[in-house]
This record gives sequence, C-alpha cells and structure tokens, in this order.
Amino acid sequence: MSGPSGGEHPPLPQHPLHPEFESEDRIENQLRPQRLDDFLGQPQIKENLKVFIQAARERNESLDHVFLSGPPGLGKTTLATIMAHEMGCDFRVTAAPALEKPKDLAGILTSLQEGTVFFIDEIHRLKSSLEEMLYVAMEDYEIDWVIGQGPSARTLRVPLPRFTLVGATTRPGMVAAPLFTRFGIPVRLDFYSRPELEAIIRRSSGILEVSIAEEAVSTLADCCRGTPRVANRLLRRMRDFAQVIGGGTITTGVVTEGMRRMNIDEHGLEEQDRNILRAIIEMYGGGPVGAETLAISVGEELDSLEVFYEPFLIQQGLLQRTARGRVATPRAWNVLGLIHNQPSPNNEDQRSLF
Ligand code: ADP
Repeated sequence: MSGPSGGEHPPLPQHPLHPEFESEDRIENQLRPQRLDDFLGQPQIKENLKVFIQAARERNESLDHVFLSGPPGLGKTTLATIMAHEMGCDFRVTAAPALEKPKDLAGILTSLQEGTVFFIDEIHRLKSSLEEMLYVAMEDYEIDWVIGQGPSARTLRVPLPRFTLVGATTRPGMVAAPLFTRFGIPVRLDFYSRPELEAIIRRSSGILEVSIAEEAVSTLADCCRGTPRVANRLLRRMRDFAQVIGGGTITTGVVTEGMRRMNIDEHGLEEQDRNILRAIIEMYGGGPVGAETLAISVGEELDSLEVFYEPFLIQQGLLQRTARGRVATPRAWNVLGLIHNQPSPNNEDQRSLF
C-alpha cells in the first residue's frame, strides 16, 4: 500500500451540505437489492418467498402477512421492498414508534391500495391500543372506527383493501402472541456466511464502481459481523482509505490498515465488543453478570447491547446468555489474549467444570 499521497487526490467532501457529499442513507438505498434474484444468501428464505409470491400472483391475491425477525442490518427492510416489487404493488413504510394514536394507524390503513405492502418496522414497539385495530385489519380487512363520544357514539365499520402487512423486529420475543400468530409467513433472518458476504461485497463494489482485489474481498468479509449493512459500510470506508492513502484499489493491505485504524480486529470485533468481553472478565470474573449492570459498565444503552452487540458475540461463541446473566466463554479469553486458567468465583457454570 502506498503512503499518504499529498496533493494527488482532492479532499473528500465531508460536510453534508457539500454537493458531492454522499449521504449514507442515499448510498444504502442505492445498494439495496430490488429483486429477489439480487438478494444474496439466505437461500431457503429466498426460495420459499419465491414460491409464496408466485402462488399469490397466480391466484391474483395479495401476499399473506409476513413477519421478519433478526438482528439489525440483515435485510428485513430490503426483503419488504423486494416483496412489493415482485408483487408489482405499492410500498408503504412506517415504524411502530411513529404510530401514536389509533387515528395514525387508521389513516395509513384506509389509504392503502389493493395489494400494497405495508411495512411496520420495530413492530414489537406497537402500542397495545393499536394492536387490536391491527388484528381486525389483518384478519378481516376492515377497521372499526368510533365516531362521536358518550351515548351518541357509534361504530363505523370501514372496509380496507386486501393489503400485505410486513412486520419487522429485532426482538421477536417481545411481540405479543396474538399478533405474531396472525402473520402467515414467519421469516427469521440469520447472520450471513463468509461466501454470502463476499458475494454482497462484490455486488456492492460493482455498483459503487470501486476496484477491489479478490483476496481483499475475503479479508473484508471476515470483518463485517455477518451483516450486509456492516459489509457495505466497511466497503465504503475502505474505498475512502484506498482513495486517500492507497493507490485507488482496495487491496488486502488497504483493508488491514483500514481495520487497524478503525479498531476492528480480524474477527470483526469492534472496540465496544472487546470492552463488553473485557468488562465481564475483568470486572465480574467472567460472569454471570446482569445485562443492565453490564450495559452501565461499558456505557452502552441496554437495547443496543442486547440487539446489536450480543447476538454477534453469541454467534461467535464468545458470550453466553444464562438465566443468571451474561458469561464470557473461554474463547473470549483467547480472543482478548488472556489466559483462561482460573475458575471464576462468580461463575458456577465454570466451577462445575473444574
Ligand atoms: P434491516 O432492515 O434488517 O436492518 P436492511 O434491509 O436495511 O436491514 O439492509 C441493510 C443494507 O444491507 C441494505 O441497504 C442492503 O443494501 C444490504 N443488504 C441486506 N441484505 C442483503 C442481501 N441479502 N443481499 C444484498 N444486500 C443486502
């Protein structure tokens, strides 16, 4: 990798108001697959959806309601947009926290078209007062709307078009059973394998017109937490490093140096991942430690600890969730370069091993 290239490259536009500033959102949308064939990986999910979509189209019906769960950045929003495209229908999107009152939800439901794919993100945060309305809407394609107040109040039954509700959540356990069971197609997205991430990186680098060496694709794939959004984000950062401190192409050298500068190790662990493991080991003797205490110890929101950091650490075999709290596995000691030779006084699970 060549060193800093001084005046050879123009400075990167950093300010959001700069005309060449590339908003992360805009690029994310540019990279978002529009068709099922461009949705890479997750073959079983893809094949099943293909069948359900084709069957619904052939019967001239709307697609059944779909429940998408999985950690952030794995493609829930992407799949919802793809369903709308493949069905040739409108797409409406909202997030549950934006729906405050029944009239907010009723307003959207009554404006849907036949077949519209209506995407509600973070559906576990839907207010219970709105859930009732959604149950009837999903099942009977109508809503009951109360007009007036007191003894003169009357209920109006408003028919709805046959729409498809796509509910997405990072916390499926927090979705009420009566809501969950009304979705005909449950889909659970899992972390992507290395070859799947390599394919995503190749596709995205083609769209972004960035040159990347084949070995660099694999090195990068190892660093992106099994998550397409992280893969795309790191690819854009590596493009920056290649442009400013490299020769324009993303080589393995650029990736290694870029990751070092961004404090991401060869397992894809970020600074905060390591802080979490170190806190369990050094402050709580390897655990178990309660999630709330752990979150405070590392200065993290409980929600992002549980939804973003932990699923990847668990998948990597570095952390366990037990009934008594979070426990660091022997592999966590290894990854941090520590020696795991002492049974922890706090850790009954480990004590039983010795
Ligand atoms: P979520 O809604 O689960 O948080 P998104 O659907 O927003 O995740 O996905 C984040 C980004 O990752 C998208 O912009 C898209 O470009 C990319 N992406 C996700 N899944 C895939 C996939 N299977 N193939 C290619 N790109 C993907």
